[in-house]
Amino acid sequence: MVGAATARVARKFNFSGGPGALPESVLREASRAVIEVPGQGLSVLGISHRSPWFRDVVDEAERNIRELLDVPNDYRVLFLQGGGTLQFSMVPMTLLRGSRRPADYVHSGYWSGKAIPEARREGSVHVAWSGEADGFRRLPADAELDWSDDAEYLHYVSNETVEGVQFHRTIGLQDVTRVCDMSSDFLSRPAPVGDFGLIYAHAQKNFGPAGVTVVLLRDHLLGRASPDLPALLDYRNHAAMRSIYNTPPVFAIYVAMLVTRWLRDEVGGLGNMDAINREKARRLYGRIDGSGGFYSGHAAPADRSLMNAVFRLRTAELDAAFVEEADAEGFAGLEGHRTVGGVRASLYNAVGLTAVNSLCEFMDDFRARHRTEAP
Ligand code: PMP
Repeated sequence: MVGAATARVARKFNFSGGPGALPESVLREASRAVIEVPGQGLSVLGISHRSPWFRDVVDEAERNIRELLDVPNDYRVLFLQGGGTLQFSMVPMTLLRGSRRPADYVHSGYWSGKAIPEARREGSVHVAWSGEADGFRRLPADAELDWSDDAEYLHYVSNETVEGVQFHRTIGLQDVTRVCDMSSDFLSRPAPVGDFGLIYAHAQKNFGPAGVTVVLLRDHLLGRASPDLPALLDYRNHAAMRSIYNTPPVFAIYVAMLVTRWLRDEVGGLGNMDAINREKARRLYGRIDGSGGFYSGHAAPADRSLMNAVFRLRTAELDAAFVEEADAEGFAGLEGHRTVGGVRASLYNAVGLTAVNSLCEFMDDFRARHRTEAP
């Protein structure tokens, strides 16, 4: 059924948790550049990272991110490797190593849970709140957050990709240095960058292929870095060389730059992107809520993620049948994370309304065929 839509680049709709869907116009341009970058006479896969062309690509990616997010001037925008996971280490190596003060961490799901032990290697960590006992189904109210009064920084994950819970506000005491892992919602909506000392996000959800991670950090934090860091793990080296310290992932940065162009020129900015993403989520959660309990959402409605809709059916067998049938019908990547089970539909920027509407139709159809089965 889905294969009949000839205009699409790929045959299936991609609802994967990541690496996720990328815009078709970007895929077409990137595929042309694999053969030859216009005007360069070379494949993007074989162009020097020291070429003026690539310097321009990095500069444009930075400029577009600054424009899209209205990044204040005293922030650096860096393109690094090592994914979100390396930032779990680089952040405390830079900001916590050698300090007697604690770092506050919010434990809101699987990924913030991965960041905490990495910080503990570098110093003392205070967990300001944990949702573990509740199965990470909800996020804390301000009054539940137990902040230290002398924290070096606080760390949280704006969107927990696995459980599908997302902060819809900035948290933390007024003057604290906030560090946020925005890996799964960066560039999906406007963000108040000035509220944060450091933001990091890998590209492979909303703005590129795997291989590049963006870090926005306030200049003065570079001065807090411990002096004994390995060269590649020291933000100062990347800042000094404006992200071309060693050989960066040229292709990944190029594609991420194309996505930032797409966001600016085709989408019309993050306000529009946010409105589209909200509409996609509204439709999908509407289907879940209107299913008479056939589908049930994992997250508390107020904390639901606009990016990752996690839900389950009445039995694990039905979950599995749903994912399998959906895949056969051309809806890929719907299996829930192994720690949560069920179904996860990821609605990243490049997942279009058509894909979401088609999935909603499939959900209705599946329910009609299976609603009478005993739980
Ligand atoms: N943080 C979040 C919120 C994530 O979703 C992920 C991976 N999906 C990571 C960190 C880890 O990123 P990576 O695999 O790039 O190291």
